[in-house]
Amino acid sequence: MAIWRRTPQQTQATADAVAAVSVAPVAAKKPVRAKMMRQYDLVDRVRAYNPKTDEDLLNRAYVYAMKAHGEQTRASGDPYFSHPLEVAAILTDLKLDDATIVAALLHDTIEDTEATRAEIDKTFGREIGALVEGLTKLKRLELVSREAKQAENLRKLLLAIADDVRVLLIKLADRLHNMRTLEFVPPASRRRIAEETLDIYAPLAGRMGMQEMREELEDLAFKELDPPAYAVVMQRLDALADRNRNLIGEIETQLAAILKKNGVSAVVLGRRKRPFSIWVKMERKSVGFEQLSDIFGFRIIVNSVAEAYRTLGIVHTTWPVVPGRFKDYISTPKQNDYRSIHTTVIGPGNQRVELQIRTEDMDQIAEYGIAAHAFYKDRVGSPTEVLQRESNAFAWLRHTVEVLSESANPEEFLEHTKMELFHDQVFCFTPKGKLIALPRHANVIDFAYAVHTDVGNSAVGCKINGKFAPLASELDNGDEVEVLTSKAQSAPPIAWESLAVTGKARAAIRRATRTAVRDQYAGLGRRIVERLFMRAKIAYADDKLKGALPRLARASIEDVFAAVGRSEMKASDVARAMYPDYKEEARSGAKKKVPFKRVRSKLTRAAADTPAAIPIKGINNDLPVKFAPNGGAVPGDRIVGIVTPKEGITIYPIQSPALKDFEDEPERWIDVRWDTEEAAPRRFPARLLVQNVNEPGSLAQVATVIAEHDGNIDNISMSRRSPDFTELTIDLEVYDLKHLNGIIAQLRAKAVVARVERVNG
Ligand code: MN
Repeated sequence: MAIWRRTPQQTQATADAVAAVSVAPVAAKKPVRAKMMRQYDLVDRVRAYNPKTDEDLLNRAYVYAMKAHGEQTRASGDPYFSHPLEVAAILTDLKLDDATIVAALLHDTIEDTEATRAEIDKTFGREIGALVEGLTKLKRLELVSREAKQAENLRKLLLAIADDVRVLLIKLADRLHNMRTLEFVPPASRRRIAEETLDIYAPLAGRMGMQEMREELEDLAFKELDPPAYAVVMQRLDALADRNRNLIGEIETQLAAILKKNGVSAVVLGRRKRPFSIWVKMERKSVGFEQLSDIFGFRIIVNSVAEAYRTLGIVHTTWPVVPGRFKDYISTPKQNDYRSIHTTVIGPGNQRVELQIRTEDMDQIAEYGIAAHAFYKDRVGSPTEVLQRESNAFAWLRHTVEVLSESANPEEFLEHTKMELFHDQVFCFTPKGKLIALPRHANVIDFAYAVHTDVGNSAVGCKINGKFAPLASELDNGDEVEVLTSKAQSAPPIAWESLAVTGKARAAIRRATRTAVRDQYAGLGRRIVERLFMRAKIAYADDKLKGALPRLARASIEDVFAAVGRSEMKASDVARAMYPDYKEEARSGAKKKVPFKRVRSKLTRAAADTPAAIPIKGINNDLPVKFAPNGGAVPGDRIVGIVTPKEGITIYPIQSPALKDFEDEPERWIDVRWDTEEAAPRRFPARLLVQNVNEPGSLAQVATVIAEHDGNIDNISMSRRSPDFTELTIDLEVYDLKHLNGIIAQLRAKAVVARVERVNG
C-alpha cells in the first residue's frame, strides 16, 4: 500500500513516513546514505508495470544523465546523479509512462549541466524535450527572490502544469526526494524549503488527489518546521498503537470474517493516521487523542460498487452506528475525484471504528489521484486530453489557471490574499471573476458576507460551479460561487452564527438576528392576535391596542406582539385588555375537550391561503420555526403548526400521529401554509421506511435510486427483521412532496424493495 516503501534506501525521514502506514512501529534508524540504484534496477521497476517499455530509451537516458552530471555531488556527498535517479524511481511507484521516467532522469540537466533543449530534442524527441524544459523553467523560478516574485512564480508553475500535467508529477517527485534528504541541506535553507512544501506543493498534491504524496510531504515539512510538536505526536501515536496492537488485528480479522460470512470478499486494512493531520486536528479542535479512532482508520476494499453498499449494510447491521458520520462520496464524489463511503461504528471492544469502504479503482484514485488515471489503459488522446475528460481535479486546475492568467496584477493579488494553494486559505470567485479569499473550511455564508453584508443577510441559496448547493457547503479552492438573494429575507437565520467561520460573518449575523428575532416573534404574535380577532369577528386596530398598553404593562404594541409570539402572553388576554367584555373562545374550547379528529379536520378544511394562515418558507427563514423531529414535512404536505412556549412553532404534516399528543390543547394549534420561492429551491427533511429483500446489492440499489433522483441522503439506519428482510430508516432531503413521491414510486418499482412507507413525524 505504501508507494514509497523502499527500505534499503530509506533515510530517517522516509522511515517515519512509512511507519505511519504500517501497524508495527518502525525502529528509529540512523540517517544512512542512499545506496545508488543501478541501471537494471530502474528498467526492472518500469518493466514490472509496463511490459512494453522502451528499454533502450531508458538506458540511453540513464547514461546521458549520469555523464551530464559527471562529478557533481549533492549536499549529502552522494553523486548528484543519485537525485534524478531517485526521482525517476518515485515515479515508477506511480507507474508512469516512459516519457515521464526519462524526463525525470533528465530533469536537472539543462539547468545544471552543458545539456541543451535542442540536444535533448534530438536525442530523446520533442515530447521529452518539452517536459524537461518545463521543469527547467520551474527550477529557475525557485531561484528568483521569493517575496517579489512568488505570485508570478506560482502563476507560471500552474501554467506549466496545466500544459502537461506530467510536469507536476515530476516536480512533486523532485520535491519529495529533496524533502527526504533535507537533513543534509544547510539549516538556513531547510526552513524555507519546508515552508514552501507545506504552503504550495503539499496542497497542490492534495488538490490533484494524490494523498500519499501530500501526506508524506506534509509530515516531512512538519518534522522540520516544528520538531517538538512532531516528537510529541509521534510519541503518543506509538504509545496508543502499541497499547491497541491486539485490538487492531482483532478488528481487521472480525471485519473480514463477518464480510466473508455474508458473501463479500474484501481486503481490510488498518491504517494509522499521519502525524501532521493529527496535529492539525489537535490544534483546530484543541483536543488530544485517546480513542483508537483518533489515530486509526480501517479501509475495506471490495470488488464492486454494489458490494460497497452491501458492506455498508452488513457493517451497520452488525454494530451500532455513530450518528452523523455517514458520508456517501460514491454517489457524490469530492472535487478531487475522491470516492468512498465513510461511516463510523461502535465496533469490537466498544471502540469507535472509522471505516472507508471503496473499490480497488477508487482506492487507486484516493491514493494516487491524477496519477492513477494510468496512461497505459487504452485511452484515446494525449495524457492531458485523457485527464481533461476524466478528472475533475484536472478540470479544476485548468479553470484556476484560466482565471489566474486573466488577473492583471499578480503581485498585488498575492499580497492581499496569499495564493490559491496556501494551506490555510481558500480562494473563490464571484460569477464576475472577483476573487474572494477566505480561511480554510469557510462556507458560502462566509463568502456571502465577504462580498457584502447585505448579500449575506439576504442570502437564501447558492450555486457552486453552476450547481445548487446548501449555504453551509464548505468551499474549495477555485469554486465559483453565486449567492442567490431574496428581498423577502431581511435577516439571516440565527443558526448561521454557529455555521459561519469568519468573525466578520458572525458579527454581522449576530447584529442582524438580534433585532430580527424580536421582529419575527412580534410578527408571529401579531398574526396570532389578528387571527383571534378574525375568529371572534371583532375589528382589530393598532390604536385600540395602544390604548390598552398600560393594562398589559407593556411599553409598545411591538412588545405586546413579541410577548404573544413567545407565548409569554395569551392572545385572549390582549383581546380582553382591548375589549373588557370579550368572551374567550379559546378557554371554552379548552374546557370542552375537542376531539382530535375535529381539530384536524377543521384545520384541513382551512383554505391553504386564508389570510390567517402563517406562511412557512423553510427552516432557515422562519424563526422560530422548526420541523417535526421524526420525519419532517415537505412543501405539498398539508401542514399544521404547534406552538411551544419559548421555543416557537413546530411544523407537522397533518397526517402525523404525533399530533395526537396535542389534541387536548387546541390553543397551541396554528394554521400555517407553505410559502416557498421557485428561484431558490430549498430542501426539506423527510423520512422513509424501506423494507428490503436481503440479497447482494439491494442496499446499493436503494441508495442509487435516491441519488439518481436527486435526493440527499442524510442518514441510513438498518435493522434486520427476519432472515429475508432488512428494514432501512432513511432520512433524506427533498424539494417537495412531488419529488418525494417520485422517489417513493421509483423505489417501489425495484424488485428488491418489498415495501416503502413515509414516516410522518
Ligand atoms: Mn531536482
